[in-house]
Amino acid sequence: MSKIHQLSETLSNQIAAGEVVERPASVVKELVENSIDAGATQVDVSVKDAGLAQIQVVDNGAGIEPDDVPVAFLRHATSKILTTRDLFNVHSLGFRGEALASIAAVAKVNLETATTAGVGTKIQVNGGEIGTPETAALRPGTQVQVDDLFYNTPARLKYVKSQQTELAKIVDIINRLALANPQVAFTLRHNDNLMLKTAGHGDLQQTLAGIYGVTTAKSMLDFESQDLDFKVHGFTSLPDTTRASRNYLSFMINGRYIKNLALTKALIAGYGSKLMVGRYPIAVIAIEMDPLLVDVNVHPTKQEVRLSKEDNLAQLLTQAVQERLASENLIPEALHNL
Ligand code: ADP
Ligand code: MG
Repeated sequence: MSKIHQLSETLSNQIAAGEVVERPASVVKELVENSIDAGATQVDVSVKDAGLAQIQVVDNGAGIEPDDVPVAFLRHATSKILTTRDLFNVHSLGFRGEALASIAAVAKVNLETATTAGVGTKIQVNGGEIGTPETAALRPGTQVQVDDLFYNTPARLKYVKSQQTELAKIVDIINRLALANPQVAFTLRHNDNLMLKTAGHGDLQQTLAGIYGVTTAKSMLDFESQDLDFKVHGFTSLPDTTRASRNYLSFMINGRYIKNLALTKALIAGYGSKLMVGRYPIAVIAIEMDPLLVDVNVHPTKQEVRLSKEDNLAQLLTQAVQERLASENLIPEALHNL
């Protein structure tokens, strides 16, 4: 008698959800990235009980065509890539087609979407059960509401930390997404209280002000540099404005927030001996490069990437920071005028 069978779609989605949907903040990240990929200029996020009771993301992006709505919830269903060639030349934040299927496998999802005003589609997907789409009068854009996260996977719930910790992770991810996308206006509400608001005027320093406060944002040094492969620009704090953790460092590659130890070290190296041991600057660094030079298909959450010519980029960054700090030391009055 045969013993091997292929797992059901629902079960494989729940397994995949283990990688993509670790906690409420992962849901927020995936939904907001979808909004950004849809070209939204306004993204409103509201969460209840740190996202465990409810997460809602409303955008004014392109919307989903009626026939595509149920398909969007299938595993590996995406509008963003089609061929192997596309996989190595990714221009969007998403491309794996896993997020909606994974989230809907471990929560109750209501999606409302319209590509043009008036004619839209509503659908409910609970624990992987895709409901029947209904036509509805909606404004253009997409609204995704996720209720009772992990209601059907109690083991997952056990790994969720206190509401305070989970909320902090949500705020953190919205901060990074906002810094990576100054052209998008974000709001974040928790239990109906406004936690964060960015202007969305495309100005990085203004976005920084919305996140770290006007005084800090104003005191930071702007820098930019480029070589044949990379264009780097950003803001970094003066050596006396530091924090005890690396959490205030944000690196973006082609608009995607990433974590990278080599780049973190390169930034710090730019300060030479000016930083005290155990202290880190506040910085946001935006890097533009040919997507062919970065492999984003390393990890399901895509926060770790593989870079070709990483050493060259690191050197470019160190040098840019070094030169900017040196230029500041030449004119000490500038420090007093900030
Ligand atoms: P991916 O983002 O990797 O393509 P997802 O599961 O996150 O996979 O989404 C599946 C598809 O659903 C997307 O490729 C996109 O076509 C559509 N989609 C999801 N969210 C939105 C949104 N907010 N606006 C427009 N289309 C969306
Ligand atoms: Mg996605």
